[in-house]
Amino acid sequence: MVTAEKTKEKGKTNIWHVAQQQLDIVAEKMNLDRGIHEILRQPKREFTVNFPVKMRDGSIKVFTGYRVHHNLTRGPGKGGIRYHPEVTLDEVKALAMWMTWKCAVVGIPYGGAKGGVVCNPKEMTLGELEALTRRFASELILIIGPEKDIPAPDVYTNPQVMAWIMDTFSMNKGYSVAGVVTGKPLQIGGSEGRNEATARGCVYVIEEAANHLGIDMRGATVAIQGYGNAGSIAAKLLAEAGCKIIAVSDSRGGIHNPKGMDPNDIIAHKQKSGSVVGFHGSKEISNEEILEIPCDILVPAALENVITEKNAGKIKARIIAEAANGPTTPEADDILFKNKIMVLPDILANAGGVTVSYFEWVQDLQSLFWKEKEVNAKLKEIMIDSFHSVLKISQKHKENMRTAAYMLAVGRVAEAIKLRGIYP
Ligand code: GLU
Repeated sequence: MVTAEKTKEKGKTNIWHVAQQQLDIVAEKMNLDRGIHEILRQPKREFTVNFPVKMRDGSIKVFTGYRVHHNLTRGPGKGGIRYHPEVTLDEVKALAMWMTWKCAVVGIPYGGAKGGVVCNPKEMTLGELEALTRRFASELILIIGPEKDIPAPDVYTNPQVMAWIMDTFSMNKGYSVAGVVTGKPLQIGGSEGRNEATARGCVYVIEEAANHLGIDMRGATVAIQGYGNAGSIAAKLLAEAGCKIIAVSDSRGGIHNPKGMDPNDIIAHKQKSGSVVGFHGSKEISNEEILEIPCDILVPAALENVITEKNAGKIKARIIAEAANGPTTPEADDILFKNKIMVLPDILANAGGVTVSYFEWVQDLQSLFWKEKEVNAKLKEIMIDSFHSVLKISQKHKENMRTAAYMLAVGRVAEAIKLRGIYP
């Protein structure tokens, strides 16, 4: 068992240990079969590759990349690839495990996978990024594929990166294989609504939670940490639902205006200046302060481990919707639960992305494409049903929403393992 002590190494929380700890907590509560618990505590497969890339100045640089398959019992591996200077194998293992639970919570037929490359895309040219992506995709060729493992965008990767992976895979096969990745551009087999799906799914569950708690969305105040794909689109959709966006941030810092700000104007400002910071009429705040601002809805939409036992007690929001993966530690979860703050856990709150990835994959396999209205309606149904399934478990067992979502997910994966049995 991983204890809170062990999750910290040199003062830094190791999210792989957090992920294992979250599983251990639920395994005990569910009285999970010991053997199945052991299977699920480790990834099935971990792939590490060091590969060279020719840089613009003619030099050769060696990069390290990972792809982890956590569990493939319910279907092929599914999960994003992130490009970030601080990617580690442990981080990718945690993210792969969370994908297993995420796919199970929303009931889509996938197992959990994740990938990452240690690099800083902000310091690379487009050509270097393409070369890195194509070489990494070639290295992955044996373990990815539409029936094996289907990557998607994650932190600092986007539809263009997916297009390069799809093309590299297809060139090696000798024919176009659209279903090898999701989150592609529309022109090459992407799905309507995929780009907005993470944020849209998140907003659907926020609306359900607000309704359950008697919070009126019209006029509800919102703070969002992270203004990338998930954060900025969530801001837009929440504003459309009548909420007031009072604070947002990105990697360079945050902005606050209790009177509310227009999310589209913030996007325009960020496009011009490179950051949300300096937006007219706002006061500058830090990425730590934004979490403690008085508001109704807090959306962590950046990186992991930002809500810990140090700041959880100071959070004033009534709903926390985890658009990011792993923003809250187990110790913080306990504090938030005691303070009656409803946490919509990552494996539920941001599952809209992978859900529309599933729709994209299904459309690719059939070569039959749906209208955006159809995609959004199907997404809405899955998100609302999943929210209520999790809420029901949470009420029945008097557990927080994360534990309830885990009970649902781990239960589904365990059932699948039992049905398939152990080979040979
Ligand atoms: N990277 C996203 C996530 O963490 C999407 C994964 C996918 O669409 O496969 O859920």
